[in-house]
Amino acid sequence: MSAKKQLRSPSVKYDYDVVIIGSGPGGEGAAMQLSKGGAKVAVIEKYHEIGGGCTHWGTIPSKALRHSVSQLIELKNNTLFTQSYHHKQSFTFADVLHHTEKVIAKQVRMRRGFYNRNNCTLYFGAASFVDEHTLSIKNKDGSMDLVTGKNIIIATGSRPYHPKDIDFTASNIYDSDTILSLDYHPHHIAIYGAGVIGCEYASIFRGLGVKTDLINNRERLLSFLDAEMSDALSYHFRNSGIILRHDEEYEKIESVDDGVILHFKSGKKMKADCLLFANGRTGNTDKLNLSCIGLKANNRGQLSINEHYQTTQSNIYALGDVIGYPSLASAAYDQGRIVADVILTNKDPKKLIQDIPTGIFTIPEISSVGKTEQMLTKQKVPYEVGRAQFKDLARSQILGSDVGGLKILFHRETKEILGIHCFGERAAEIIHIGQAIMEQKGSGNTIEYFVHTTFNYPTMAEAYRVAALNGLNRLF
Ligand code: FAD
Repeated sequence: MSAKKQLRSPSVKYDYDVVIIGSGPGGEGAAMQLSKGGAKVAVIEKYHEIGGGCTHWGTIPSKALRHSVSQLIELKNNTLFTQSYHHKQSFTFADVLHHTEKVIAKQVRMRRGFYNRNNCTLYFGAASFVDEHTLSIKNKDGSMDLVTGKNIIIATGSRPYHPKDIDFTASNIYDSDTILSLDYHPHHIAIYGAGVIGCEYASIFRGLGVKTDLINNRERLLSFLDAEMSDALSYHFRNSGIILRHDEEYEKIESVDDGVILHFKSGKKMKADCLLFANGRTGNTDKLNLSCIGLKANNRGQLSINEHYQTTQSNIYALGDVIGYPSLASAAYDQGRIVADVILTNKDPKKLIQDIPTGIFTIPEISSVGKTEQMLTKQKVPYEVGRAQFKDLARSQILGSDVGGLKILFHRETKEILGIHCFGERAAEIIHIGQAIMEQKGSGNTIEYFVHTTFNYPTMAEAYRVAALNGLNRLF
């Protein structure tokens, strides 16, 4: 029997084969794959548009903002423009938001088309469980609908964590969602939390000329990165004027008429015009009435699942940010497709790749895949390093962006690629060249690939050849 028939026939007593809560990348990935596989699918979204946190408050707006800011920086620094450019040269947060809004609108239009073409029914309202097959939808006008599904997928994402002792209703305290509503240009911003989101926003604000303090609970930035990358980021942040405050935790955060005062446990204090609090996220599970179906989220609002992405209720699945790590749009989309396959075929699920690349859209950008030097040293793996500096590449010189470089970690004996770390413009794209080789099975994943192949010239891909030659020359 085909997957389509298996799924359809027993579910005649339900409105849908699958009801998905949430239209972010996780929900969308599942919805598209399920519809293409013949399932009758509904998606419930509580925001007035599809796309999820990813499109409206997270990935897309922050990346679009970052792009506009990095173009401004280029405009200011490129002598070609600085000599002849007479127009406005200082831009505010509100100015760069225009581009972001346009990108969001394009994304929404395109994604709506996916749902229409694949006959997925969309409901707009907040979903909560009535029983393990029934969801109630609270519509904007207060009315309620009930829908039933043979299977239900929870893809409700996450939201910024709000500690109870911080007043997020204060007009000068923002989180990573509300910062997009900032309607004035601050002179000075404090960013509390130096994770990926905090670092990315520090680049954006500093790039707009805002005095920026980045407050880190740890002793170095993004400690999961290879130390060389993290050090390079610290150097460039300091060089651009960002004040890094490591090893600090707040004691009290006070909103006053003319700003925000942060009192630190170390006894220090600082004042800024406004605060962006970007320290942690919470899964969106509290409004789902999970107790009525015997499910319970952990203290971060996240759900536990088995390897089939099933919760303890076997017809209820969860994916994306609501299950925690890796909490990336890229992974959420893939998880959606994996869960769809599990539901359609009842077969063992495919797995996410082991080495998920990290893309950090700071200015400059960082991207990594595989092991860091610190991990390999700890694991006593005999590795060698090949390096390329972007300033030595023809393409970088043409682009006028000579910051950064690429390093490849490889096994001294087998020459297998173990990790790739890239710093600088387009790092998140450049990493994929190496990732594709690293993922090859057998002997195809060695650093020698890069010296035996011919790449387009002049391109940033040349960095791989330069780094490979540099690394292989170290062997004796
Ligand atoms: P979401 O995209 O959050 O979507 C969940 C949807 O569920 C939302 O639309 C929400 O309204 C809806 N919902 C919630 N509760 C209900 C309910 N009860 N009823 C109906 N609907 C409901 N990831 C990357 O890969 N690359 C990046 O560069 C990147 N940058 C980021 C930058 C920022 C500032 C942030 C905050 C996140 C970033 N992320 C990035 C992470 C990425 O956005 C998330 O991992 C991704 O959006 C998770 O997808 P999701 O489908 O699980 O949830």
